[in-house]
Amino acid sequence: MFEKILIANRGEIAVRVIRACREMGIIPVAVFSEADRKSLHLRLAEEAYPIGPPPSSSSYLVMEKLVQVAKKSGAEAIHPGYGFLAENANFAEMVESEGLTFIGPPPEAIRLLGDKLKARQTMVEAGLPIVPGTPGGVSSTKEVKSFIDQFGLPVLIKAAYGGGGKGMRILKEEGQIESSLRDASSESEAHFGDGTVYLEKYLQRPRHIEIQILADKHGNVIYLGERECSIQRRHQKVIEESPSPIVDAKMRRAMGESAVEAARAAGYVNAGTVEFLVDKDKKFYFLEVNTRLQVEHPVTEMVTGLDLVKQQIKIAAGEKLPYSQKGIKLNGAAIECRIYAEDPQNDFLPSTGVIRSYREPSGPGVRVDSGVYGGFEVPVYYDPLISKLITWGTDRQEAIARMRRALEEYVITGIATTVAFHRQVLDHPEFLSGEFSTHFIDEQYRASAGANDGFPRSLKEIAALAAVWHDLTNRGKIKIGMTDRRLKENPWKTFGRREAIRQFK
Ligand code: ADP
Repeated sequence: MFEKILIANRGEIAVRVIRACREMGIIPVAVFSEADRKSLHLRLAEEAYPIGPPPSSSSYLVMEKLVQVAKKSGAEAIHPGYGFLAENANFAEMVESEGLTFIGPPPEAIRLLGDKLKARQTMVEAGLPIVPGTPGGVSSTKEVKSFIDQFGLPVLIKAAYGGGGKGMRILKEEGQIESSLRDASSESEAHFGDGTVYLEKYLQRPRHIEIQILADKHGNVIYLGERECSIQRRHQKVIEESPSPIVDAKMRRAMGESAVEAARAAGYVNAGTVEFLVDKDKKFYFLEVNTRLQVEHPVTEMVTGLDLVKQQIKIAAGEKLPYSQKGIKLNGAAIECRIYAEDPQNDFLPSTGVIRSYREPSGPGVRVDSGVYGGFEVPVYYDPLISKLITWGTDRQEAIARMRRALEEYVITGIATTVAFHRQVLDHPEFLSGEFSTHFIDEQYRASAGANDGFPRSLKEIAALAAVWHDLTNRGKIKIGMTDRRLKENPWKTFGRREAIRQFK
């Protein structure tokens, strides 16, 4: 086993990997940019090394620096976390060629699966169902038109090397072909250094359900159940749960076995996720493979009892998987809410600044994977995910009840966060029913904004509302920041909170 591992990341995921290292008796080595001098991951690591100025292009993305620091510190392996260099085949290659171990899949598998066109071709050959699409890149209006003739509108234009929803455009009308093609291509050129785009049929109201797999270096591959990731905003996951409310044992086995096939076809080793879209008839289609630890991995950990980061490290060190497929038992239900430093009242714009007071929820079935603390200044340079709140229950209902309770307990002041937004989703009848699609947030948010006739329409109305607001706040009738109805009812609950806020002022 390794004695020292360098973690080429920051924030909550660096903290997560550090925790696994500590439990395994491995010395974790942290790296940090100038913007992260006060970050939580430094405080928890044994050693920490500076790697440059705040922008990630000058620090967390500089491969040579990371390898250099790993060697200097005497680390034998590098864990990339997610994001940054986690799915960069060149980095994995460089790490291995320097005699270090990359805690992730082999570079060839990353390269193959990072190219969505090649990945789709591989899965077709392996017998997996895929979303209908073009076999290669498209660049002309004519090609798009003939695809529309065959499959109809809408069509999804996708970046061949895409990720994070970038370089994606929904084409709803033929009149938009040229502009959508151009936009998608230039966006993917800017983000991924390659403007190749291809077409997929745009599935109507699908669900996003993914399978976690583990593959060791000895040819064993197992699946660890599914994660329901349909609660998304702009094609990015916001809430995830396991199991999915619509997946039964038979469907789980079919999807799991397909995922294992996919992993084998790609020569996959380590932890990975095979993503599928599921239509209203519960037919599933291969979407892509994420060749890294996912943000949402904790929900799988909660229902399987397995520590995925430890498994990643053990697999990288050459150990065999501790279980066969039969040994995997799913227990209860888990949900994760991604807590972002974003302002839901202001189109989810990133909200940076100092966290004035911070109190994490706890109690039965609650887990918080966080990268922040009270007094910490959230830097502007990186992804605004500050923590993940995960709850477990014996069934979905209990997991939801605990999540609601935990969201009520969670106190983060000084910056805007998505905590209150999650409370709304967790109260929504459609979410509770388990009957939703990837459009849930877009539809529900638009619906609630449209239904609210109190929304000001004219400047005159805005002025009138502002005057009333000003008057009431000045007279102390409205307390800004005390929006939760139940909190307002119970002065004992809020007394300490007001004190805490006052202290920081
Ligand atoms: P990225 O790699 O950029 O995250 P994905 O291929 O993983 O892109 O897709 C992200 C999300 O976009 C999916 O979860 C789904 O909501 C939506 N999506 C992708 N492809 C399709 C499709 N063919 N039809 C409908 N929705 C899709």
